[in-house]
Amino acid sequence: MNRNTLAVLVSFSLLLSNAQAAPAPEAARRLAQDATIVDTHIDAPEGLVDHWDDLALPTPGKEFDYPRAREGGLDVPFMSIYTSADQDDAGTAWQVANAMIDSVEALAQRHPDKFALLRSPKDLKRLQRGGKVLLAMGMENGAPLVDDIGNVAKFHARGVRYITLAHGRNNRISDSATDTQPRWHGLSPFGQQVVKEMNRVGIMVDVSHLSEDAIRQAVELSSVPVIASHSALRHFTPGFQRNLSDENVKAIAAKGGVVQVPFGSMFVDAPAAKAYADYVSAREAYRQAKLAAAAAGQAFTATEPQFPKVAPGSVAEVLDNIDRIVQLTGGADHAGIGSDFDGVNGALVSELHSVADYPVLVAGLQQRGYKDADIRKILGGNLLRVWSEVERAATP
Ligand SMILES: [Zn+2]
Repeated sequence: MNRNTLAVLVSFSLLLSNAQAAPAPEAARRLAQDATIVDTHIDAPEGLVDHWDDLALPTPGKEFDYPRAREGGLDVPFMSIYTSADQDDAGTAWQVANAMIDSVEALAQRHPDKFALLRSPKDLKRLQRGGKVLLAMGMENGAPLVDDIGNVAKFHARGVRYITLAHGRNNRISDSATDTQPRWHGLSPFGQQVVKEMNRVGIMVDVSHLSEDAIRQAVELSSVPVIASHSALRHFTPGFQRNLSDENVKAIAAKGGVVQVPFGSMFVDAPAAKAYADYVSAREAYRQAKLAAAAAGQAFTATEPQFPKVAPGSVAEVLDNIDRIVQLTGGADHAGIGSDFDGVNGALVSELHSVADYPVLVAGLQQRGYKDADIRKILGGNLLRVWSEVERAATP
Protein backbone atom coordinates (compact mmCIF):
# COMPACT_ATOMS: atom_id res chain seq x y z
CA MET A 1 0.00 0.00 0.00
CA ASN A 2 1.57 3.38 -0.98
CA ARG A 3 1.28 6.60 0.96
CA ASN A 4 -1.45 8.08 -1.27
CA THR A 5 -3.68 5.04 -0.93
CA LEU A 6 -3.08 5.16 2.80
CA ALA A 7 -4.08 8.85 2.95
CA VAL A 8 -7.26 8.10 0.99
CA LEU A 9 -8.04 5.18 3.27
CA VAL A 10 -7.39 7.21 6.41
CA SER A 11 -9.66 10.05 5.29
CA PHE A 12 -12.26 7.50 4.18
CA SER A 13 -12.23 5.82 7.58
CA LEU A 14 -12.40 9.21 9.32
CA LEU A 15 -15.43 10.00 7.18
CA LEU A 16 -16.95 6.68 8.18
CA SER A 17 -16.28 7.08 11.87
CA ASN A 18 -17.82 10.58 11.87
CA ALA A 19 -20.97 9.53 10.09
CA GLN A 20 -23.92 7.96 11.87
CA ALA A 21 -24.38 4.48 10.39
CA ALA A 22 -22.62 5.15 7.09
CA PRO A 23 -23.75 2.52 4.59
CA ALA A 24 -21.18 -0.22 4.18
CA PRO A 25 -19.57 -0.44 0.75
CA GLU A 26 -21.00 -3.03 -1.60
CA ALA A 27 -17.99 -5.37 -1.30
CA ALA A 28 -18.51 -5.54 2.48
CA ARG A 29 -22.22 -6.27 2.06
CA ARG A 30 -21.46 -9.05 -0.39
CA LEU A 31 -18.91 -10.66 1.91
CA ALA A 32 -21.24 -10.39 4.92
CA GLN A 33 -23.96 -12.16 2.92
CA ASP A 34 -21.64 -14.83 1.59
CA ALA A 35 -19.66 -15.60 4.77
CA THR A 36 -21.14 -17.64 7.61
CA ILE A 37 -21.68 -15.13 10.42
CA VAL A 38 -21.88 -16.65 13.89
CA ASP A 39 -22.62 -14.18 16.71
CA THR A 40 -22.17 -15.92 20.06
CA HIS A 41 -24.13 -13.53 22.24
CA ILE A 42 -27.57 -12.10 21.57
CA ASP A 43 -29.87 -11.51 24.55
CA ALA A 44 -33.14 -11.75 22.61
CA PRO A 45 -34.75 -14.39 24.91
CA GLU A 46 -34.42 -12.15 27.97
CA GLY A 47 -35.88 -9.29 25.93
CA LEU A 48 -38.91 -11.49 25.25
CA VAL A 49 -39.40 -11.99 29.00
CA ASP A 50 -39.42 -8.22 29.52
CA HIS A 51 -41.65 -7.51 26.51
CA TRP A 52 -42.89 -10.21 24.16
CA ASP A 53 -42.54 -9.64 20.41
CA ASP A 54 -42.65 -11.87 17.38
CA LEU A 55 -39.01 -11.64 16.26
CA ALA A 56 -39.84 -12.97 12.80
CA LEU A 57 -41.36 -9.54 12.11
CA PRO A 58 -39.66 -6.13 12.06
CA THR A 59 -39.18 -5.25 15.76
CA PRO A 60 -37.81 -1.70 15.88
CA GLY A 61 -37.49 -1.55 19.69
CA LYS A 62 -35.04 -4.45 19.66
CA GLU A 63 -31.67 -5.20 18.11
CA PHE A 64 -32.39 -8.69 16.74
CA ASP A 65 -35.18 -9.70 14.40
CA TYR A 66 -35.41 -11.87 11.28
CA PRO A 67 -35.53 -9.13 8.60
CA ARG A 68 -32.48 -7.33 9.98
CA ALA A 69 -30.60 -10.62 10.57
CA ARG A 70 -31.02 -11.32 6.86
CA GLU A 71 -30.06 -7.77 5.91
CA GLY A 72 -26.85 -8.03 7.97
CA GLY A 73 -25.96 -11.52 6.71
CA LEU A 74 -26.31 -13.15 10.16
CA ASP A 75 -26.47 -16.94 9.89
CA VAL A 76 -26.13 -18.31 13.43
CA PRO A 77 -27.15 -16.12 16.36
CA PHE A 78 -26.49 -17.77 19.73
CA MET A 79 -29.58 -16.96 21.78
CA SER A 80 -28.50 -16.22 25.33
CA ILE A 81 -30.29 -18.26 27.98
CA TYR A 82 -29.44 -15.80 30.71
CA THR A 83 -30.15 -16.04 34.43
CA SER A 84 -28.96 -13.58 37.04
CA ALA A 85 -27.16 -14.10 40.34
CA ASP A 86 -30.36 -12.85 42.06
CA GLN A 87 -32.38 -15.60 40.34
CA ASP A 88 -29.74 -18.09 41.49
CA ASP A 89 -30.18 -16.83 45.09
CA ALA A 90 -33.96 -17.01 44.75
CA GLY A 91 -33.82 -20.61 43.46
CA THR A 92 -35.57 -19.74 40.18
CA ALA A 93 -32.67 -20.06 37.68
CA TRP A 94 -33.51 -23.61 36.48
CA GLN A 95 -37.15 -22.64 35.88
CA VAL A 96 -36.29 -19.37 34.10
CA ALA A 97 -33.71 -21.06 31.84
CA ASN A 98 -36.12 -23.79 30.75
CA ALA A 99 -38.84 -21.24 30.00
CA MET A 100 -36.37 -19.22 27.91
CA ILE A 101 -35.39 -22.31 25.94
CA ASP A 102 -39.13 -22.88 25.34
CA SER A 103 -39.40 -19.35 23.93
CA VAL A 104 -36.56 -19.99 21.46
CA GLU A 105 -38.18 -23.27 20.41
CA ALA A 106 -41.52 -21.49 20.00
CA LEU A 107 -39.97 -18.91 17.68
CA ALA A 108 -38.55 -21.64 15.45
CA GLN A 109 -41.76 -23.70 15.51
CA ARG A 110 -43.97 -20.69 14.75
CA HIS A 111 -41.85 -19.78 11.70
CA PRO A 112 -40.32 -22.95 10.21
CA ASP A 113 -39.74 -20.98 6.97
CA LYS A 114 -37.58 -18.38 8.74
CA PHE A 115 -35.89 -20.05 11.69
CA ALA A 116 -34.52 -23.45 12.71
CA LEU A 117 -32.70 -24.62 15.82
CA LEU A 118 -29.04 -25.46 15.24
CA ARG A 119 -27.73 -28.26 17.46
CA SER A 120 -24.66 -29.24 15.44
CA PRO A 121 -22.40 -27.39 12.99
CA LYS A 122 -22.84 -30.42 10.70
CA ASP A 123 -26.46 -29.39 10.06
CA LEU A 124 -25.67 -25.80 9.13
CA LYS A 125 -25.71 -25.96 5.32
CA ARG A 126 -28.74 -28.28 5.18
CA LEU A 127 -30.89 -26.25 7.60
CA GLN A 128 -29.96 -22.93 6.05
CA ARG A 129 -31.69 -23.68 2.76
CA GLY A 130 -34.39 -21.17 1.86
CA GLY A 131 -32.81 -18.33 3.82
CA LYS A 132 -33.36 -19.54 7.35
CA VAL A 133 -31.61 -17.98 10.33
CA LEU A 134 -30.32 -20.75 12.60
CA LEU A 135 -30.87 -20.28 16.32
CA ALA A 136 -28.21 -21.85 18.56
CA MET A 137 -28.34 -21.60 22.33
CA GLY A 138 -25.74 -20.59 24.89
CA MET A 139 -26.47 -20.54 28.62
CA GLU A 140 -25.16 -17.42 30.34
CA ASN A 141 -24.52 -18.37 33.99
CA GLY A 142 -24.27 -21.99 35.14
CA ALA A 143 -26.83 -21.24 37.88
CA PRO A 144 -29.58 -23.37 36.24
CA LEU A 145 -27.43 -26.45 36.78
CA VAL A 146 -28.13 -25.87 40.50
CA ASP A 147 -26.01 -28.55 42.27
CA ASP A 148 -26.91 -31.49 40.03
CA ILE A 149 -24.23 -32.60 37.54
CA GLY A 150 -26.96 -34.48 35.64
CA ASN A 151 -28.37 -31.13 34.54
CA VAL A 152 -25.40 -30.65 32.17
CA ALA A 153 -26.58 -33.54 29.97
CA LYS A 154 -30.21 -32.45 30.35
CA PHE A 155 -29.49 -28.96 29.05
CA HIS A 156 -27.37 -30.45 26.27
CA ALA A 157 -30.42 -32.49 25.28
CA ARG A 158 -32.43 -29.26 25.22
CA GLY A 159 -29.93 -27.75 22.75
CA VAL A 160 -27.57 -25.70 24.94
CA ARG A 161 -24.15 -25.64 23.24
CA TYR A 162 -22.13 -23.40 25.54
CA ILE A 163 -22.34 -22.54 29.22
CA THR A 164 -20.83 -19.36 30.69
CA LEU A 165 -19.81 -20.82 34.03
CA ALA A 166 -20.72 -17.75 36.13
CA HIS A 167 -22.19 -14.26 35.71
CA GLY A 168 -21.94 -11.08 37.81
CA ARG A 169 -21.26 -12.79 41.15
CA ASN A 170 -19.50 -15.95 42.32
CA ASN A 171 -21.70 -19.05 42.09
CA ARG A 172 -21.46 -22.76 42.96
CA ILE A 173 -19.24 -23.36 39.94
CA SER A 174 -16.80 -20.51 39.68
CA ASP A 175 -15.63 -17.10 40.83
CA SER A 176 -16.87 -14.14 38.81
CA ALA A 177 -14.71 -11.29 37.48
CA THR A 178 -17.04 -8.74 39.08
CA ASP A 179 -17.68 -10.08 42.60
CA THR A 180 -16.12 -8.20 45.51
CA GLN A 181 -13.83 -11.05 46.56
CA PRO A 182 -12.97 -14.59 45.47
CA ARG A 183 -14.87 -17.48 47.00
CA TRP A 184 -13.10 -20.43 45.37
CA HIS A 185 -9.91 -18.81 44.04
CA GLY A 186 -10.98 -20.03 40.61
CA LEU A 187 -13.27 -22.98 40.00
CA SER A 188 -15.03 -24.82 42.82
CA PRO A 189 -14.69 -28.62 43.13
CA PHE A 190 -18.21 -28.85 41.62
CA GLY A 191 -17.10 -26.45 38.87
CA GLN A 192 -14.22 -28.77 37.97
CA GLN A 193 -16.71 -31.62 37.64
CA VAL A 194 -18.95 -29.38 35.49
CA VAL A 195 -16.11 -28.59 33.06
CA LYS A 196 -15.31 -32.30 32.65
CA GLU A 197 -18.97 -33.16 32.15
CA MET A 198 -19.34 -30.37 29.55
CA ASN A 199 -16.34 -31.86 27.70
CA ARG A 200 -17.96 -35.29 27.90
CA VAL A 201 -21.39 -34.30 26.53
CA GLY A 202 -20.09 -31.72 24.02
CA ILE A 203 -20.95 -28.29 25.46
CA MET A 204 -18.42 -25.51 24.90
CA VAL A 205 -16.90 -24.02 28.06
CA ASP A 206 -17.40 -20.22 28.05
CA VAL A 207 -15.03 -18.21 30.24
CA SER A 208 -16.58 -14.75 29.78
CA HIS A 209 -17.52 -13.16 33.15
CA LEU A 210 -15.06 -15.39 35.06
CA SER A 211 -12.26 -14.24 37.36
CA GLU A 212 -8.67 -14.27 36.15
CA ASP A 213 -7.90 -17.46 38.12
CA ALA A 214 -11.09 -19.23 37.06
CA ILE A 215 -10.34 -18.57 33.38
CA ARG A 216 -6.82 -19.94 33.69
CA GLN A 217 -8.06 -23.04 35.52
CA ALA A 218 -10.91 -23.68 33.07
CA VAL A 219 -8.54 -23.43 30.11
CA GLU A 220 -6.09 -25.83 31.76
CA LEU A 221 -8.73 -28.31 32.86
CA SER A 222 -10.75 -28.48 29.64
CA SER A 223 -9.56 -31.22 27.30
CA VAL A 224 -10.79 -29.19 24.29
CA PRO A 225 -10.62 -25.50 23.26
CA VAL A 226 -12.74 -23.02 25.22
CA ILE A 227 -14.45 -19.80 24.13
CA ALA A 228 -14.99 -16.35 25.60
CA SER A 229 -18.47 -15.74 24.15
CA HIS A 230 -18.47 -11.95 24.70
CA SER A 231 -15.27 -10.45 26.09
CA ALA A 232 -12.94 -7.69 24.97
CA LEU A 233 -9.41 -6.86 26.11
CA ARG A 234 -8.50 -5.19 29.40
CA HIS A 235 -5.54 -3.67 27.57
CA PHE A 236 -7.94 -1.02 26.22
CA THR A 237 -10.02 -0.68 29.41
CA PRO A 238 -7.55 -0.70 32.33
CA GLY A 239 -9.10 -1.81 35.61
CA PHE A 240 -12.22 -3.30 33.98
CA GLN A 241 -11.94 -6.85 35.33
CA ARG A 242 -14.77 -8.14 33.16
CA ASN A 243 -12.44 -7.93 30.12
CA LEU A 244 -9.60 -10.38 29.44
CA SER A 245 -5.94 -9.97 30.35
CA ASP A 246 -3.43 -10.47 27.53
CA GLU A 247 -2.19 -13.58 29.38
CA ASN A 248 -5.63 -15.18 29.28
CA VAL A 249 -6.14 -14.27 25.61
CA LYS A 250 -2.88 -16.08 24.85
CA ALA A 251 -3.85 -19.06 27.03
CA ILE A 252 -7.27 -19.38 25.32
CA ALA A 253 -5.57 -19.24 21.89
CA ALA A 254 -2.79 -21.67 22.84
CA LYS A 255 -5.49 -24.22 23.59
CA GLY A 256 -7.10 -23.57 20.18
CA GLY A 257 -9.98 -21.43 21.51
CA VAL A 258 -11.52 -18.16 20.41
CA VAL A 259 -12.24 -14.72 21.91
CA GLN A 260 -15.53 -13.25 20.66
CA VAL A 261 -15.48 -9.44 20.77
CA PRO A 262 -18.65 -7.61 21.91
CA PHE A 263 -20.03 -4.33 20.52
CA GLY A 264 -21.11 -2.72 23.81
CA SER A 265 -19.31 0.57 24.48
CA MET A 266 -18.45 -0.48 28.05
CA PHE A 267 -16.33 -3.35 26.70
CA VAL A 268 -14.24 -1.44 24.17
CA ASP A 269 -14.16 2.21 25.22
CA ALA A 270 -12.14 3.21 28.32
CA PRO A 271 -14.40 6.02 29.65
CA ALA A 272 -17.53 3.90 29.10
CA ALA A 273 -15.86 0.91 30.83
CA LYS A 274 -14.92 3.09 33.82
CA ALA A 275 -18.49 4.45 34.13
CA TYR A 276 -19.93 0.95 33.85
CA ALA A 277 -17.50 -0.59 36.38
CA ASP A 278 -18.34 2.22 38.84
CA TYR A 279 -22.04 1.52 38.29
CA VAL A 280 -21.56 -2.22 38.90
CA SER A 281 -19.72 -1.52 42.20
CA ALA A 282 -22.33 1.03 43.30
CA ARG A 283 -25.13 -1.40 42.50
CA GLU A 284 -23.42 -4.15 44.52
CA ALA A 285 -22.89 -1.79 47.49
CA TYR A 286 -26.57 -0.83 47.25
CA ARG A 287 -27.62 -4.49 47.22
CA GLN A 288 -25.45 -5.33 50.25
CA ALA A 289 -26.73 -2.32 52.19
CA LYS A 290 -30.32 -3.26 51.38
CA LEU A 291 -29.77 -6.85 52.57
CA ALA A 292 -28.08 -5.61 55.77
CA ALA A 293 -30.97 -3.22 56.47
CA ALA A 294 -33.51 -5.99 55.92
CA ALA A 295 -31.58 -8.34 58.24
CA ALA A 296 -31.51 -5.65 60.93
CA GLY A 297 -35.19 -4.82 60.40
CA GLN A 298 -34.32 -1.24 59.45
CA ALA A 299 -35.93 0.96 56.83
CA PHE A 300 -33.87 1.36 53.63
CA THR A 301 -34.20 4.61 51.71
CA ALA A 302 -31.08 4.84 49.48
CA THR A 303 -31.75 5.46 45.78
CA GLU A 304 -30.81 2.66 43.42
CA PRO A 305 -27.86 3.46 41.09
CA GLN A 306 -28.92 3.94 37.47
CA PHE A 307 -27.26 2.48 34.36
CA PRO A 308 -24.77 5.17 33.26
CA LYS A 309 -25.35 7.31 30.20
CA VAL A 310 -22.04 7.77 28.40
CA ALA A 311 -20.87 8.83 24.95
CA PRO A 312 -20.85 5.74 22.73
CA GLY A 313 -17.60 4.11 21.65
CA SER A 314 -16.81 3.49 17.98
CA VAL A 315 -16.51 0.58 15.59
CA ALA A 316 -12.80 1.48 15.38
CA GLU A 317 -12.49 0.39 19.03
CA VAL A 318 -14.14 -2.96 18.25
CA LEU A 319 -11.66 -3.35 15.38
CA ASP A 320 -8.74 -2.42 17.67
CA ASN A 321 -9.72 -5.35 19.90
CA ILE A 322 -9.78 -7.74 16.96
CA ASP A 323 -6.40 -6.39 15.75
CA ARG A 324 -4.85 -6.95 19.17
CA ILE A 325 -6.17 -10.51 19.49
CA VAL A 326 -4.67 -11.21 16.06
CA GLN A 327 -1.33 -9.66 17.11
CA LEU A 328 -1.20 -11.45 20.47
CA THR A 329 -2.04 -14.84 19.00
CA GLY A 330 -0.09 -14.63 15.75
CA GLY A 331 -2.98 -14.82 13.26
CA ALA A 332 -6.70 -14.60 12.62
CA ASP A 333 -7.60 -18.01 14.08
CA HIS A 334 -8.62 -16.92 17.56
CA ALA A 335 -10.84 -13.84 17.13
CA GLY A 336 -14.59 -13.73 16.60
CA ILE A 337 -17.73 -11.73 17.41
CA GLY A 338 -20.21 -11.91 20.31
CA SER A 339 -22.12 -8.64 19.99
CA ASP A 340 -24.25 -8.64 23.17
CA PHE A 341 -27.10 -7.16 21.10
CA ASP A 342 -30.21 -6.70 23.28
CA GLY A 343 -27.97 -7.11 26.34
CA VAL A 344 -26.41 -3.70 27.03
CA ASN A 345 -29.40 -1.35 27.38
CA GLY A 346 -28.68 0.05 23.93
CA ALA A 347 -25.16 1.18 24.98
CA LEU A 348 -23.60 -0.03 21.70
CA VAL A 349 -20.76 1.56 19.73
CA SER A 350 -22.15 4.24 17.45
CA GLU A 351 -22.05 2.37 14.12
CA LEU A 352 -23.29 -1.06 15.20
CA HIS A 353 -26.95 -0.62 16.13
CA SER A 354 -28.43 -3.99 15.34
CA VAL A 355 -27.95 -7.29 13.52
CA ALA A 356 -28.35 -5.36 10.25
CA ASP A 357 -24.92 -3.79 10.76
CA TYR A 358 -22.33 -6.59 10.42
CA PRO A 359 -21.37 -5.19 6.97
CA VAL A 360 -20.08 -2.06 8.75
CA LEU A 361 -17.69 -4.26 10.74
CA VAL A 362 -16.70 -6.14 7.59
CA ALA A 363 -15.96 -2.85 5.81
CA GLY A 364 -13.75 -1.85 8.74
CA LEU A 365 -11.82 -5.11 8.56
CA GLN A 366 -11.37 -4.68 4.81
CA GLN A 367 -10.10 -1.13 5.29
CA ARG A 368 -7.56 -2.43 7.80
CA GLY A 369 -6.22 -4.81 5.19
CA TYR A 370 -7.67 -8.14 6.34
CA LYS A 371 -7.93 -10.74 3.58
CA ASP A 372 -11.38 -12.16 2.85
CA ALA A 373 -10.33 -15.60 4.11
CA ASP A 374 -9.34 -14.13 7.48
CA ILE A 375 -12.52 -12.06 7.70
CA ARG A 376 -14.53 -15.24 7.16
CA LYS A 377 -12.69 -16.89 10.06
CA ILE A 378 -13.41 -13.94 12.35
CA LEU A 379 -17.08 -13.74 11.34
CA GLY A 380 -17.77 -17.37 12.17
CA GLY A 381 -15.22 -19.85 10.85
CA ASN A 382 -13.20 -19.88 14.07
CA LEU A 383 -16.21 -20.47 16.28
CA LEU A 384 -17.47 -23.27 14.04
CA ARG A 385 -14.00 -24.87 14.17
CA VAL A 386 -14.08 -24.89 18.00
CA TRP A 387 -17.69 -26.10 18.15
CA SER A 388 -16.90 -28.97 15.73
CA GLU A 389 -13.84 -29.93 17.76
CA VAL A 390 -15.82 -29.97 21.02
CA GLU A 391 -18.52 -32.08 19.35
CA ARG A 392 -15.99 -34.55 17.88
CA ALA A 393 -14.30 -35.06 21.25
CA ALA A 394 -17.59 -35.68 23.08
CA THR A 395 -18.51 -39.17 24.28
CA PRO A 396 -22.11 -38.71 25.41
ZN1 LIG B 1 -22.80 -11.09 29.75
